[in-house]
Amino acid sequence: MAYVLVINSGSSSVKFQIVDPTASASDAPFVSGLVEQIGEPQGRVTIKHGDDKWVVQRAIPTHTVGLQESFRLLDSKGIGPTQLDLVACGHRVVHGGMVFSEPELILDPVVDMIRSLIPLAPLHNPANIDGIEVARELLPNIPHVAVFDTGFFRNLPPAAALYAINAEVAENNLIRRYGFHGTSHEFVSSQVPALIGRDPHHTRQIVLHLGNGASASAVENGHPIDTSMGLTPLAGLVMGTRSGDIDPGIIFHLVRQGGMTIDEIDNLLNRQSGVKGLSGVNDFRELRQMIENEDENAWLAYNVYINQLRRYIGSYMVALGRVDAITFTAGVGENDKFVRRDALDTMENFGVEIDPELNDLPNDGPRIISTESSRVKVLVVPTNEELAIAQKAAAVAARYA
Ligand code: ADP
Repeated sequence: MAYVLVINSGSSSVKFQIVDPTASASDAPFVSGLVEQIGEPQGRVTIKHGDDKWVVQRAIPTHTVGLQESFRLLDSKGIGPTQLDLVACGHRVVHGGMVFSEPELILDPVVDMIRSLIPLAPLHNPANIDGIEVARELLPNIPHVAVFDTGFFRNLPPAAALYAINAEVAENNLIRRYGFHGTSHEFVSSQVPALIGRDPHHTRQIVLHLGNGASASAVENGHPIDTSMGLTPLAGLVMGTRSGDIDPGIIFHLVRQGGMTIDEIDNLLNRQSGVKGLSGVNDFRELRQMIENEDENAWLAYNVYINQLRRYIGSYMVALGRVDAITFTAGVGENDKFVRRDALDTMENFGVEIDPELNDLPNDGPRIISTESSRVKVLVVPTNEELAIAQKAAAVAARYA
């Protein structure tokens, strides 16, 4: 069996999976691993394989030590990267700027280019580069492939991609809408035409990726024409801990009247806002529990979340002109039937009718949840970003084999 190692490297953690790229989205990965608390006095490596779970607690000073420790553990179980038929290593890279749209075989100039994009993603791209450098060193004999979160949205129409701010300032600072979660929007939207029996070249759709982070996209005939995240993943929908769209004047107000620093506001809007900022929790299972216990703040947070989601659905309906499908994906989108119901409530006049019974069925693979007569098909399609990265990495590796 040929496998792909998929690495998602963060500033103090590394997530990885060993994936069969021909698996289906709902299959568990062959191996999944998490290295946590890199650089802290006590770190942890957790690896899952089938029903087995192994944990190692020790100091993990660097990403290199974390991956070395993980590989050593896997080797001792006979499933280490060098013991398997590993055809590629796929790396999730957050920001590809205006440079990268397609997955890229990683050679030194590609790493330099990703480094040059650090100003656009100062927290993410350096960590992604760490992961790439470590993995190339530990696994020098397989192709490494970078898959960009922004790639799918690289060619957004200018009317959707440009902000109405001074053009020279925008250009000098590379300010435009880049969009994120592209791997997921592409993976999900590419499955929809077959599920609803339409030609992919004549399918207009809205994809709602609702996880801890959340984003919406409008996709026309396979190409995105708009998306809710912007220069950074802070924009758009209300998220678990991120505010989504706010009046930019709020930032000046917080500096001038609230006496806050830029770093404090960054932390506020990215980590202390969204559903958590309004209710105290960011997990929708907890939020639902609180709503059932008649917690007013939870109810309010939920309504703000749904209201913003409906704003985007409405505007993308207009942008597309005709909508063939609206698809929910990611943790909340796949599992929370109330969010799906409320997001599309009272849209019968726009041809959208959810079937309550189909909507109530538990999450079990791609499915249609609209009524037979609904002009717009409503779907739930599980996303699997690691599998999507594995498929792309395997395809690039095959081209260079
Ligand atoms: P991310 O990849 O952005 O971290 P996920 O797509 O894994 O997020 O989604 C995580 C979120 O999905 C959780 O925070 C939780 O709110 C939500 N979630 C997961 N399972 C359920 C469920 N059964 N019901 C409602 N919400 C769920």
